[in-house]
Amino acid sequence: MRAMVYRGPYKIRVEDKQMPSIEHSNDAIIRVTKAAVCGSDLHLYHGMMPDTRVGMTFGHEFVGVVHEVGASVRSLKPGDRVMVPANIYCGSCFYCARGLYSNCHNVNANATAAGALYGYSHTVGGYDGGQAEYVRVPFADVGPSVIPEWLDDEDALMMTDALATGYFGAQLGEITEGDTVVVFGAGPVGLFAAKSAWFMGAGRVIVIDHLNYRLEKARTFAHAETYNFVEIDDIVVHLKRATDYFGADVAIDAVGAEADGNVIQHVTAAKLKLQGGSPVALNWAIDSVRKGGVISVMGAYGPIYSAIKFGDAMNKGLTLRMNQAPMKRQWPRLLEHIKAGYLKPNEIVTHRFPLEDIAEAYHVFSAKLDGCIKPVIIVGDQ
Ligand SMILES: [Zn+2]
Ligand SMILES: [Zn+2]
Repeated sequence: MRAMVYRGPYKIRVEDKQMPSIEHSNDAIIRVTKAAVCGSDLHLYHGMMPDTRVGMTFGHEFVGVVHEVGASVRSLKPGDRVMVPANIYCGSCFYCARGLYSNCHNVNANATAAGALYGYSHTVGGYDGGQAEYVRVPFADVGPSVIPEWLDDEDALMMTDALATGYFGAQLGEITEGDTVVVFGAGPVGLFAAKSAWFMGAGRVIVIDHLNYRLEKARTFAHAETYNFVEIDDIVVHLKRATDYFGADVAIDAVGAEADGNVIQHVTAAKLKLQGGSPVALNWAIDSVRKGGVISVMGAYGPIYSAIKFGDAMNKGLTLRMNQAPMKRQWPRLLEHIKAGYLKPNEIVTHRFPLEDIAEAYHVFSAKLDGCIKPVIIVGDQ
């Protein structure tokens, strides 16, 4: 089969690769029809994530058609159109029983801190992903769902991570009626978090980024008030001023490890790899939220420490809530919102590339060329 293959930082190829096969009776093989490139794939592409191995196929956002199922699979059959959550999880361990699918204890032999994802570094299991013609899906009775007939492939594709993660980020913020919510990062996850904040009763939603075309999307798609931190002297002071010197009630970090905006953080994290990421956005969140406020983090960070303003967070009595999103937990409510017409997820898709051109997709997305917000990869004949 044809598959995206990682050959080192900034080196993405499409190569012939061995077809995946059923390795366990609860596996399924999915023929991928659409995949997406995620902001967190860019951390891999940039060589930011430890133990990202040459030869890996990336891609934790994909939808497709069931090609083959193992002997014990009951909920899927060949021909079903399915969406597959980014997390791989067993469905029955201590964590899965509590809905903490991203913290599953049975799927990642390499680490006790993290569960598993498709197509990511070996720190989250080292499973090949869906930027390929076919992918092996373990625990096929647990993760994938048949896509409802009324739902487009691209809308379903957004549910596999970006939309579910954005919604989860807003949920972690414990938003109550009338709250002021500030979202750092106007990428796909930040846009979906901002949109979701309204569903949860926010009275005011503010989005911060440095790319004007993305802030424009935050205004039109998420109806948010926006500020470009590059055009403002001190974004924290600005946010204080904009909230009667109180601060926002809730701050959401939808940026993660590769935040720009502070040279020392960027050099120690991105260049020297002395930190698990440059937590500029998280520190802005800590500084700009009011005392007793809530900070939600679902931007991706690496496994080693980051220089976070912990003392300030403590003295302000903040609540910090964070996790990788358990995608499927968000699906029932998201389907209701989409069906009711409150949300059209693929409005954030700006680019579509065939699988053979996936290197171009990574380049355009990484370099933020041509107004790129979310690239989708079209696999095979549609
Ligand atoms: Zn993703
Ligand atoms: Zn589990």
